[in-house]
Amino acid sequence: MASPNKSGCIDSAGRKSAAQCLRPALAALLAFFAIELHAGNFRADCEARLARTEVSVDQESAPYVTDSSFGIAELTARNSPGARGESTVGLTVAHYLSAIDVVQNGLQDPETREYCMRPHFKVRLSYSPIEVFVGREIQRGSCAYAEVVHHEEKHVAAYELQLKKAAEAVERALRAHYGNTIFYGDPAKLDAQLAYSIRQQWLPFAEHQLEAVEPVQLAIDSPQEYARYRTACNGEIDRILKGLR
Ligand SMILES: [Zn+2]
Repeated sequence: MASPNKSGCIDSAGRKSAAQCLRPALAALLAFFAIELHAGNFRADCEARLARTEVSVDQESAPYVTDSSFGIAELTARNSPGARGESTVGLTVAHYLSAIDVVQNGLQDPETREYCMRPHFKVRLSYSPIEVFVGREIQRGSCAYAEVVHHEEKHVAAYELQLKKAAEAVERALRAHYGNTIFYGDPAKLDAQLAYSIRQQWLPFAEHQLEAVEPVQLAIDSPQEYARYRTACNGEIDRILKGLR
């Protein structure tokens, strides 16, 4: 019988043979080394050739549109200022939009099918269209009309400012989180993971950034601002409101 064979290498005749044993062992070692070498090269390729992680944020804004088709009573009902009991002579309405798409900038090894990628996030944020409603009873071209529009433009400006802030916050947060990390794995699984993160984390974050405008809008409608309305244009707005009762 042959002596115990550590490598488990036995020739076709069942005899232990040093020369015959060496070949498969060496071949196995070479093959292993080749895969390692290849894997190492692939990762180096990914480092060298992949585009950097990208985050592009598109702030979609358009000039506001004015609308005088609703009466003050309708605007008041729509605005529902509640306990204040104030009439709404003008109203600014924004339409929130946040969307995040992701594209993989990937690289695949044609032999091993190994895959690597860096993501490119495409963010869209918007309040557009912003509609400025002026009560139908307020004549276009009048001092009261100009006064109402002047006030509503403060709301429009707050939306424009917050859109910039939101875009910066979302871009900063995505860049801080993803850095320039390279992802390895199955393209479809990586896609699903990114989609999950967008849904669970990044879209709510973007929506929260847009909603941060709301306390700013409330502060614009201060008691002082309402008081100013009453005396503006020699009491023209006040007279219009009294005429409604
Ligand atoms: Zn207001």
